[in-house]
Amino acid sequence: MKAAVYYDKGDIRYEEVALPMIGPDEILLKVKACGLCGTDIHKALDRLVSPGTVLGHEIAGEIVEVGREVKGYAAGDRIYAAHHVPCFTCHHCRRGAYSLCPQFKRTNVEPGGFAEYIRIPALHVQHTIGKLPAQVSDEQGAMVEPVACCLHGFEKIDFRPGASVLIMGAGQIGCIQIQLARHFLASQIIVSDLNPFRLQKALEFGADYAVNSATHDLETEVMEITAGAGVDVVIISAGVDALLPQAINVLNRGGTVLVFAPFSGRQVSIPAARFFQDEVKIVGAYSSNPYHYPTALQLLSSRIVDAEKMITHRFSLAELPTAIACAHHPSGQVIKVMIKPEQEEGNAVGTVSAGE
Ligand SMILES: [Zn+2]
Ligand SMILES: [Zn+2]
Repeated sequence: MKAAVYYDKGDIRYEEVALPMIGPDEILLKVKACGLCGTDIHKALDRLVSPGTVLGHEIAGEIVEVGREVKGYAAGDRIYAAHHVPCFTCHHCRRGAYSLCPQFKRTNVEPGGFAEYIRIPALHVQHTIGKLPAQVSDEQGAMVEPVACCLHGFEKIDFRPGASVLIMGAGQIGCIQIQLARHFLASQIIVSDLNPFRLQKALEFGADYAVNSATHDLETEVMEITAGAGVDVVIISAGVDALLPQAINVLNRGGTVLVFAPFSGRQVSIPAARFFQDEVKIVGAYSSNPYHYPTALQLLSSRIVDAEKMITHRFSLAELPTAIACAHHPSGQVIKVMIKPEQEEGNAVGTVSAGE
């Protein structure tokens, strides 16, 4: 079978790899759609994974073979699949922080979603897959994992109806968060980004205000919109460390900052006086856990999160390098990119910005 294998920055090869063999309690899945996640791009461009890795974890497909001990699934079933499984028994799991479980990142499907077929190990069969109803497309199914991650974030900050929210970054994650904030009855949704296309999309997904932080001072704008109060929630969905102090500056008293993007690890300074007197909070959220997937599927199936509207680009497996360049382009007209192993090369869907 074919897979898109990462070797180095700028070196992803579309090549022949062995078809995975399944055990008695495992599933062989034909991948129909795999979403390109911001973290895939981060891993490929910042050399965070070892050569030979097949990335891709937002997966939907059709089962071609089930092991004899697998119950509840059969060949022909369409399913979504996520990549990490917590142990449910360690210190972090018992405290409900499943994505911090030491087993979590060690578990994965084989070889990864950017392949024609994947082996779904027994633990995943038990915890991270689910059937797709007929009205849910493969592409919607491939959005279960990212929607689950966003749900995890909203859960961690105990998002309440009536909260005003600033979402920093209107990429694929920001656009899911806008739709969730709308669904969870946010009073005001402000979105900031540097890219005019994404800001326009943000408005289409239900943002009340879209602020271009390249041309406008974000703090001034947010204070003006909220009549000087600041917002109750800031969600940082762009991996820029400098956004953290800015987020705290526009936070209402009692407000929460949710950090939902990888930062570089650089030190930033924040106004510490705000914690005691104003009871502000900074909360991080990483990935999702098995309990989020059925809810995420419901949100997609009911179109509360409109996956079809988010997908701007579709590429074949061989075109993964182009897909990454396209998604990474700062002024690209891109929200969500899908990799379709069955799509023929040269039939990419979506505008590929000049200079790529
Ligand atoms: Zn992801
Ligand atoms: Zn655990």
